[in-house]
Amino acid sequence: METYTQFSRNKNSRRFSPEFIAAVREHSPIELVASAYTKLRKSGCQLVGLCPFHEERTPSFYVHPAKGAFFCHGCGARGDVFSFTKAVLVCDFRQSVDYLSARAGISQSGFTPAHELRLRVARVATRRLEERKFKDFWNCRIDAINAKHRALGRAATNAEICLRSGKLRTEEKKLAWDALERYLSFALRVEREGLCDVEVLRREWLARTRREGRNAA
Ligand code: ZN
Repeated sequence: METYTQFSRNKNSRRFSPEFIAAVREHSPIELVASAYTKLRKSGCQLVGLCPFHEERTPSFYVHPAKGAFFCHGCGARGDVFSFTKAVLVCDFRQSVDYLSARAGISQSGFTPAHELRLRVARVATRRLEERKFKDFWNCRIDAINAKHRALGRAATNAEICLRSGKLRTEEKKLAWDALERYLSFALRVEREGLCDVEVLRREWLARTRREGRNAA
């Protein structure tokens, strides 16, 4: 088996450009890289074989070529072609890039990405950034909904205790019933309007970013 040491020349702080990483990824199909370590056979749109990361007799190691990803149902190992290389060669990310670029015959010195590759990498970066922003927005909304749900729930519980005590005056009773009503209608709204659903929030997020884009223009 090859080891990373032959690829670990000069460990100082080299950094790979995103275009270089993308080029290495494109020239390192995970099914080819993985099949050097385990025999893979077709299974639907995936490939399956014995996991190279744990002992097993029945294959539970899946490779998804279109997604460039692998997953093992036995030991939970998962990732892309770089994580596969890291795990199988027991090396770090940089060494996995060294290994895969050498394997694909892509030279790091004097690498100049084609215009098209540069555009593609920029598009992926934009998409990732958008996705991160959406996730922040989504988490924020869910936290706010949960907090409101908890607060209304606490008020409703108190109101119920007071109502059951039978000691409330008429106007206090009305306040207590209002608290119960507020809690129930909020819970119903969360349910009915799917306030926590990722797709609902995504639509809201898209509408908002479009609006902000228009305002900025
Ligand atoms: Zn495994």
